[in-house]
Amino acid sequence: MNRVINFNAGPAAIPLDVLKQAQEEMLDWNGTGMSVMEVSHRSKEYEAMHNEAQDLFRKLAGMGPEWKILFLTGGASTQFFMIPMNFLHSGRKATYLVTGNWSKGALKEAKRFGTCDAYTTENPDGTFTRILKPSEFSIDPNSTYVHMTSNNTLFGSQWHYWPETGSVPLVCDMSSDIFSRPFPADKFSLIYAGAQKNLGPSGVTVVAVKDSFLQLAEEQAKLPTMLSYRTHADNNSLYNTPPCFSIYILSLTLKWLDKNGGLEAMQKINEEKGRIIYSAIDASNGFYRGPVEKDSRSLMNVVFRLDTVEKEELFVKEAKARGIVGVKGHRSTGGIRFSMYNANLVDNVAKAAQFMEDFRKKYS
Ligand SMILES: *Cc1c(COP(=O)(O)O)cnc(C)c1O
Repeated sequence: MNRVINFNAGPAAIPLDVLKQAQEEMLDWNGTGMSVMEVSHRSKEYEAMHNEAQDLFRKLAGMGPEWKILFLTGGASTQFFMIPMNFLHSGRKATYLVTGNWSKGALKEAKRFGTCDAYTTENPDGTFTRILKPSEFSIDPNSTYVHMTSNNTLFGSQWHYWPETGSVPLVCDMSSDIFSRPFPADKFSLIYAGAQKNLGPSGVTVVAVKDSFLQLAEEQAKLPTMLSYRTHADNNSLYNTPPCFSIYILSLTLKWLDKNGGLEAMQKINEEKGRIIYSAIDASNGFYRGPVEKDSRSLMNVVFRLDTVEKEELFVKEAKARGIVGVKGHRSTGGIRFSMYNANLVDNVAKAAQFMEDFRKKYS
């Protein structure tokens, strides 16, 4: 077996222990004599696992019973329209904080349903190199919610403070940094994340929504049944067949997180990983250039450039020969990107930094 150092942006690395346990349980899950994929979603075994995953999610996030944990399909991209479809009815407005491509996509969908105030850090050339400063936006108290993206996966920037929204509910796309660090759940009303970056496999999107916010949602009868949050909240995400296997791997990943010290422990590890790679960039005398402003740098997706596209291609090729894969930047931005989610341990990141140094010595 030859496991690579996997810096894929998503789907992304999954903890080895999780994969091994899934392998062990593949033919006979939980004494059922079947794989988890073959079990009815109405069975007591399945439901116990489903509920346990929700409870563990609440525990890790520091969320009380007032939070509903939903397991939905359609990716984080479906949340871009489900949120405004459910909450921007009756002439309401929302505020969007746009700090990258995904938040821009979320705003585009919201505009189909209602009025939006938008604040952006987009540069004239279409790139994003920082998050917003508190002085650069103001929240209209008449907004039904504020939408933000905590980590900008493509451009490699991350919010390192939480915006003050007064009494306006805060909605956050945490797809690429959820559970990489603690966060004050009280500050939020709805959090969502496609699982395939930091929580497990693709196929399930976790939506955590506070009961008080859910009450502002459009009446179920006015929406397609499957697109109403109320449907899924009222039926414990079992209105129709949920993505059982993805939820199972998610549940194993949450257990792994819990066993390894939860979000505080992840934060320490992720800070250490970030320190290692950003020092390699900063100490390279401009051989590697990180475009993101220092106080907006992401600990999850580290983005940098070399001086020519040819050299970047060579970097990708030589990294692969060293067993380091997934380092090519997003197709729209180019450059190099290391996605260092929780499953990538300090060891792997240190090896990647060593490769960066060797490559620099060889080609500078
Ligand atoms: C990957 C990503 C998405 C899109 O997720 P899908 O599950 O592919 O729809 C949305 N937001 C952020 C921040 C992401 O990183």
